[in-house]
Amino acid sequence: MTTLQDVLDAAEALWPTRLAEDWDNPGLAVGDPAWPVSRVRLALDVTSETLDEAVADGAQVLFTHHPALFHPLRSLDARSASARVPLRAARAGVALLSAHTNADAAPGGVNAVLADLIGLADQRPLVPIPGEPDAGIGRLGTLPAGATLGGLAARIARVLPSTASQVRVSGDPALPVRTVAVCSGAGDSLLTLPQVLAADVYVTADLRHHVSLDARAAGLGGLINVSHWASEWLWLPVAARQLAARLEADGHPVAVSVSDTRTDPWDFAIAQ
Ligand SMILES: [Zn+2]
Repeated sequence: MTTLQDVLDAAEALWPTRLAEDWDNPGLAVGDPAWPVSRVRLALDVTSETLDEAVADGAQVLFTHHPALFHPLRSLDARSASARVPLRAARAGVALLSAHTNADAAPGGVNAVLADLIGLADQRPLVPIPGEPDAGIGRLGTLPAGATLGGLAARIARVLPSTASQVRVSGDPALPVRTVAVCSGAGDSLLTLPQVLAADVYVTADLRHHVSLDARAAGLGGLINVSHWASEWLWLPVAARQLAARLEADGHPVAVSVSDTRTDPWDFAIAQ
């Protein structure tokens, strides 16, 4: 029999929580490690909809990238929006488990999957974690000679799931691109790093007005701003295969499925 503890052990082996940022809250949010598990559902976010899917799928674990509980709760009062879904998960016997910045930083994790799909060679972490080989925030890599900003943006648009947020670009489409910095999810905070400004282009999500203008003024040739959800959702099918293989190897097989429900907050855009 497989238990939730077995799933926690497999997740820890793949995405060690020591790699998480100090402010983060990955790991088990709801559940009892003794619960039996036969099915695991993966989604990017814990929402009412992704929980419904997990229940309909017969899953005992909803494994997400974003933690279900992030800000401290003072109650599990169902009238509060932040408590409603975790409370419902507990009643339904669905454990809530996440791997967040630990999965971003892990070798082969969220950033590595995005960088692979973009086609980056010679990959290394943008901000390495000392003592942790190939682990760290973001990725830095290179494209073959002849690559351009326009060509890279078109490739990204092809490999990412489609969203209303689209793929928005700052810079000349003909700009030659060799070195690419990547950060899945919100990457504003890395925009002032010398290694990002030294790249030919920075690919991330949730870029705001001022930091973007400042980075271009500081010499960054191009910015590609994608959907936060899309930049991280790509990781889920890879994570599902890794989790299933790890549990199988440990002698604790489970059925694993991935939600393709788009939890990107944006539903449509009007092209001008
Ligand atoms: Zn994220």
